[in-house]
Amino acid sequence: ALTRLANKTVFITGASAGIGRATAWEYAHATEGQIKLILSARRVENLKDLQDELNSKYPSIKTFIGKLDVSQKDSITPFLKTIPEEFKDIDILVNNAGKALGNAQVGSIETKDIDEIFQTNVIGLISITQAILPIFKAKNAGDIVNLGSIAGKDPYPGGSIYCASKFALRAFTESLRKELINTKIRVIEVQPGAVETEFSIVRNYGDKSKADKVYEGREPLIAEDIAELIVFSTSRKQNTVLAELLVFPSDQA
Ligand code: NDP
Repeated sequence: ALTRLANKTVFITGASAGIGRATAWEYAHATEGQIKLILSARRVENLKDLQDELNSKYPSIKTFIGKLDVSQKDSITPFLKTIPEEFKDIDILVNNAGKALGNAQVGSIETKDIDEIFQTNVIGLISITQAILPIFKAKNAGDIVNLGSIAGKDPYPGGSIYCASKFALRAFTESLRKELINTKIRVIEVQPGAVETEFSIVRNYGDKSKADKVYEGREPLIAEDIAELIVFSTSRKQNTVLAELLVFPSDQA
């Protein structure tokens, strides 16, 4: 089944760390380097390291790296223009870039944080999807994988803004899937529970000890677990849509 992925072009947002980075590796492993990857994020230095590591492990791999802050929606079209010709025929879009807020009661959340979460998790994702969709429509093929969350199904106190953003993402994703029902464009949403990445450190404003407490006494999933599911879902037979993949560690309530 994985041969279906050979020589495809995959565009990953937020590829500099965590699930996005692991997804780049998983596509490389699954195809033994017979893949083209567009890797974007804000931290280009991380992308450069990733590119070097991928190239040295798989000399046949083709990678393009570029700085893209998805929360700046006006930068999306200029970014896409920088993609070299041989990467332009995108087959798989992995909308992975995302951000959470630290545990915050509604009364104490700052407007700028609300804006940032929605610009990143919702508006940016929608804008990128809109920009790539014409490529998929023109060839009546393509996969869109959106990183939702268990938070988009089961809201929790202190998580109002993040949960609301992932609910919005889920509504957008489901509407889009229904809009595209008679096409060969697949829309997939992966909804992880706790995954140990930098996510929890970012969420705790860089406080690693606080972040580690999130996982205390538990065994969270790791980024590779989610990356495997992303690759699996995009390597099914064309008529098979894994619409929603809710996945959490067995000890998560
Ligand atoms: P990490 O914090 O480890 O990585 C987040 C990635 O997103 C980084 O590569 C970061 O790159 C990128 N990113 C953040 N903001 C932006 C932005 N404005 N523009 C471009 N890239 C951005 O988190 P995860 O890998 O864990 O998270 C990935 C996705 O999975 C997110 O959508 C998250 O909501 C979702 N998820 C994670 C869970 C978890 O427990 N870890 C659970 C459920 C869902 P850079 O900073 O270089 O821009």
